[in-house]
Order: sequence, then C-alpha cells, then structure tokens
Amino acid sequence: MAVVGVLALQGSYNEHMAALRRIGVKGVEVRKPEQLLGIDSLIIPGGESTTMAKLANYHNLFPALREFVGGGKPVWGTCAGLIFLANKAVVLLSGQKTGGQELVGGLDCTVHRNFFGSQLQSFETELSVPKLSEKEGGNDTCRGVFIRAPAILEVGPDVEILADCPVPVDRPSITISFGEGTEEEEYSKDRVIVAVRQGNILATAFHPELTSDSRWHRFFLDMDKESPAKAFSALSLSSSS
Ligand code: GLN
Repeated sequence: MAVVGVLALQGSYNEHMAALRRIGVKGVEVRKPEQLLGIDSLIIPGGESTTMAKLANYHNLFPALREFVGGGKPVWGTCAGLIFLANKAVVLLSGQKTGGQELVGGLDCTVHRNFFGSQLQSFETELSVPKLSEKEGGNDTCRGVFIRAPAILEVGPDVEILADCPVPVDRPSITISFGEGTEEEEYSKDRVIVAVRQGNILATAFHPELTSDSRWHRFFLDMDKESPAKAFSALSLSSSS
C-alpha cells in the first residue's frame, strides 16, 4: 500500500493524519529530509507559512522538498501548504507589505497570502468542484473552510482550475503589489481561484481535513495511481521483463 507522508512541522497535520485514518490509510509524519525517501506522496498542511518555512529551514528540508515535488510523486498543499508550493507568493494587507519567505515552488501560479483578510474574516462556503463528482458520482459541491486563507491570482498554462469562489463583499480593500511596489493594482475581479491541479501537484486554499468529507483525500490518493513517477517505474518494469 502506498505510504502517504504528512509534513508535520506545524499546523493541521494531525487533522490530515486523522482524515487519512478515516479512509483506512496510515499516514506517516515527516520532519526530516531522509523521511521523504520512504513515502509515495506528501501532504503539506495548513498553518502559518512563515513559521513553517522557518522550521523547514531549521530542519534543512527545502532541497529535499523541491526534489520530491520535481520527482513527480503526488503532493497536496492545503492553505499554507498551497503557499509553500506556489512559484510566487505576495502579501499586502492594509497597505503594509509584509512577509517574504522561502517557498518550495513547483506550482506555476501567484498566490496572495491572507487574500480574504485577517483571522476575523475567516469563513465557510459551498464550492462547486465538478472533478470531485466525476470519479465518485453524486454531489459536486463541497464545504470550503477558509481560515486566513490565501487565494490564487494567476495560473500558468499547465494549471487546471478545480474551483473558484466569489470574493466576499466584506473583503477589506487592499492593494496587490507585484515585485518591489512597481506594479500595483486593486483586485477587481469578483471571483478568485481556490483549488488547482498541475500534474502531480494538488493545491487548495481551504481545509478539507477540517471537514468529515473524505473526497479530497481520496482524490489525492487516486493521483498516486496516475503519477508520472509510477508510470515511469511501470514502464521500466515492463521493458525489463
Ligand atoms: N495565512 C496563513 C499563511 O499565510 C495560511 C493560513 C492557513 O493555512 N490556514 O501562512
């Protein structure tokens, strides 16, 4: 059975471990670079991405995480985990540019940290995700739990958008700054991207592990069966036999 690692530095890793247990999968907590060698897929949980980055640096995890993501095995980032996986992260809250942290990268997108505002603007909403019902049938909506959540502003051509959501009307008016304050623009669209997939990378701005809905975890586990790393080893096995 495939071994699913959960990055266990900080944040909602216990909740992901419990969500995996609920569907009969034993997760493995990952804290050291060498542990990445023994897993088939990895979940990077929500939490606080600056703190998680500091801890990842402390444990010298960034090179091994980048290698893991580049190696084609499935990786799923939820909330702060999504920020970790983005190629570019911006944050600008109440006119104050803050943050700036090391990212794992790999996901061709620009993510805006704390897009919906502060902790007080956390919210839950119904999301429409046709891909979730494609495999299992039934309802294509799911509950999105957004906690001081990021949102995806732009995606590259290889990124599939799985879900977006309306920008709440009470979202604080903030300016988005790209680069060193050279290009600034108000976010003017009325919807924003909150779930994407790019090959072996799945990313959600919200927290499925905080709900009893196991479909996202099953969706992620299914990605292992289609992963390029698996396809490659199957190919070399069949060609050597
Ligand atoms: N706002 C957090 C950050 O920037 C993410 C929040 C979350 O993971 N729930 O890291």
